[in-house]
Amino acid sequence: MTRSPIWHPFTQHALEPTMKKVVATDGAYLVDEAGNRILDAISSWWVITHGHRHPTIMEAIRQATEVYDQIIFAEYTHAPAEDLARGLIKVSPAGLQHVFYSDSGSTAVEVALKMALGFFHNTGRRRDRIVVMEHGYHGDTIGTMSVGERGVFNAAYEPLLFGVDSLPFPEPGLEQITLDAFEVACCSGRVAALLIEPLVLGAGGMKMFTPSVLGELKKIAQRHGVLLIADEVMTGWGRTGTLFACDRAGVLPDILCTSKGLTGGAMPLAATLCTSEIFEAHLSTDRRKTFFHSSSYTANPIACAAAVANLKIWTGEPVQARIDRLVALQGQALQRFVGNPRFRNVRQSGTIAALDLAVPSDGYLADIGPRLRAFFRERNLLIRPLGNVIYLMPPYCVSEAEIDRLYDAIDEAASVLIGTAA
Ligand SMILES: *Cc1c(COP(=O)(O)O)cnc(C)c1O
Repeated sequence: MTRSPIWHPFTQHALEPTMKKVVATDGAYLVDEAGNRILDAISSWWVITHGHRHPTIMEAIRQATEVYDQIIFAEYTHAPAEDLARGLIKVSPAGLQHVFYSDSGSTAVEVALKMALGFFHNTGRRRDRIVVMEHGYHGDTIGTMSVGERGVFNAAYEPLLFGVDSLPFPEPGLEQITLDAFEVACCSGRVAALLIEPLVLGAGGMKMFTPSVLGELKKIAQRHGVLLIADEVMTGWGRTGTLFACDRAGVLPDILCTSKGLTGGAMPLAATLCTSEIFEAHLSTDRRKTFFHSSSYTANPIACAAAVANLKIWTGEPVQARIDRLVALQGQALQRFVGNPRFRNVRQSGTIAALDLAVPSDGYLADIGPRLRAFFRERNLLIRPLGNVIYLMPPYCVSEAEIDRLYDAIDEAASVLIGTAA
């Protein structure tokens, strides 16, 4: 067999020469060529919310293909985009009145940054600093790498990245340090926006902080006229227990980015929502105040139709009850690891559960990550630890028996890989 020409994402091909070929998806499972059913405990990189191939979404896609493909989105509009925008505004935190479409989480964040800079530029104020949080992740474009945690992932690109002000992560008991650092940063008078993943910093290691910290950050931002950009690309669509993580804190962001679960995970689509204040700063007969952003596939009608179907599922099916059930299941299942010396920092935010394997050297490149991954892979479980951080973010259709199977495997992995020495 000749080698595939494909260059896979986040893959070291010298160490991982073979890919499992998936031939179908079904509920909480991927099905491979050999007929193995692989339990997708990370929702295929956090996108699948209800389960793979939810019939309502699949049917909406089929129907949309009968009448649409891509349609230019300047000068023209279409029903799926209009219905989705109205639906999104209805379910989003109050004050968000306008919807800008793009096609990935990274582009949603790029759009948010440009909206924030444009807002101050168009209103004649010189504010161009972005404040972020340590361990943050916002995507892999040059702009979103600039606002994310620096490290081995972006060392080669560092010369192109722009400078930001970074707040220390609000570790339990040390939250005031984060808040004070934000206050100090704001005092420069140059800060345009605080960009943050609300409640859970995903790719940075499933680091969790409390709704009250988010509330306090919002208050400081408001006091200084700094915009709050909520990157809900991962946390949106129920992951933290409520539709958006901001809802749990009762926080109203000025800009909100959503992607991953927007279509239930079926199609690539993103939206950046903003307040009318930000939209109106770009509303002018002076063409220079136009929001200069687009991508070819902006508001793809088929993707929008999938997202409209997702909204329909949220209103027509007991999604919140499924989420509440999963929150409870995760909570119960984690109990057995509390006090287990092989694990540290057992934690949960809504449907997301995480725990750190107690190994001496952590960090993403520690070889424990790939060893864990191989262990789970042999058992037909899709779990991809972030270094020594094991987390589960399953789709909401996962059963109690499947949850048990996952945690049994985590327990076993710890005994096999670190033995009783820890
Ligand atoms: C995944 C992710 C992104 C990037 O989304 P892509 O669709 O991969 O570009 C941005 N922000 C957060 C919080 C994410 O988890």
